Amino acid sequence: MQAAVVTAFSDALEIVQRDIPEPGAGQVLIRLEACGLCHTDIHAARGDWPVKPALPFVPGHEGIGIIEKLGAGVTGRTVGERVSIAWLGSACGECRYCVDGRETLCEKQQNSGYSIDGAFAEYAVASATFVVPVPDGISSIDAAPLSCAGVTTYKAVKVAQVKPTELVGIFGIGGLGHLAVQYARIMGGTVAAIDIEQPKLDLAAELGAEHLIDAATVDPVVALEALGGLDVAVVLAASPRVFEQAFASLRRGGRLVCVALPADGGAMTIPIFETVLKGISIIGSIVGTRQDLAEVFALHAAGKTRVIAETRGLEDVNEAMAEVLSGKVPARLVFDYVTVPATV
Ligand code: NAD
Ligand code: ZN
Ligand code: ZN
Repeated sequence: MQAAVVTAFSDALEIVQRDIPEPGAGQVLIRLEACGLCHTDIHAARGDWPVKPALPFVPGHEGIGIIEKLGAGVTGRTVGERVSIAWLGSACGECRYCVDGRETLCEKQQNSGYSIDGAFAEYAVASATFVVPVPDGISSIDAAPLSCAGVTTYKAVKVAQVKPTELVGIFGIGGLGHLAVQYARIMGGTVAAIDIEQPKLDLAAELGAEHLIDAATVDPVVALEALGGLDVAVVLAASPRVFEQAFASLRRGGRLVCVALPADGGAMTIPIFETVLKGISIIGSIVGTRQDLAEVFALHAAGKTRVIAETRGLEDVNEAMAEVLSGKVPARLVFDYVTVPATV
């Protein structure tokens, strides 16, 4: 099978031929149909974060495919079923976080495409209990971005407890942001979209954002203050300065939801005085649970969300990453393993 492998941080990924893996006990073998390219895969390939993946590894945590084989002891899944491989590759199932509904905080979790090989390959093995079934009526190309960009922003809007009549700022209208706009609207919020690329703002408007702010030409803090300030700011652009702008844009009682993950453990400066007097909450939000993803799929199957994506072949993985970094791509690039078959 063809796989895209990170062999050194900052270097180009290598396209290699590998044997199809065998599913171990409790695992399933999945023939992948599609996998989205999340900005996290770029951070992973560059070794951007304090905890780095062990080399070599296969990125990819928006994988959608068909189960071809069951490992020993698997009873809950069937051959032929279509499932998603998301960031939460597995969790212990026993710690306080796993049992109280916060499995994404499990300290023993494995992460697809980071601590274990992911879905930038034609086949992958995954935990049978952590893959999430994809309902009929959703294409694999749509299901891929929903598996991380979707579930992450759905969860971010959930933890912010957006109420109808509240103004929600979405900073960064990329893969995550274009879905965040839609979830904020579904929760009843009015959306202000902030980006530095005009086409991204046009897309946000098409998806229901009412206020559009081009941070390349205006100061977003001034523009958002003119609107009365944000009740919720969701930060999806990986720059500490954007977090600080988002904080400064909040009105009293506001919530800052931190989602993007700047390189080098990026730090933001938060004024304590304003935080206290304005009763501001600062919330970190990491992906979503299997149940959150099932809800994201259900919303999409019900026709309530739209995925904006373009497809690429896996052999173009390096060009695709450069495209994402340029900021010029539509919301999400998805590797299509079905209609763009592998070339050796
Ligand atoms: P992306 O590259 O698709 O989108 C980023 C967007 O931010 C782009 O539209 C870009 O134009 C915009 N942007 C850049 N600079 C900006 C600025 N100064 N102001 C406003 N907008 C700006 O990336 P993505 O795949 O959506 O991922 C976004 C971030 O979220 C990454 O850091 C990724 O690692 C992180 N992430 C976090 C989680 C989590 O669970 N917390 C999950 C997935 C991704
Ligand atoms: Zn992701
Ligand atoms: Zn656990």
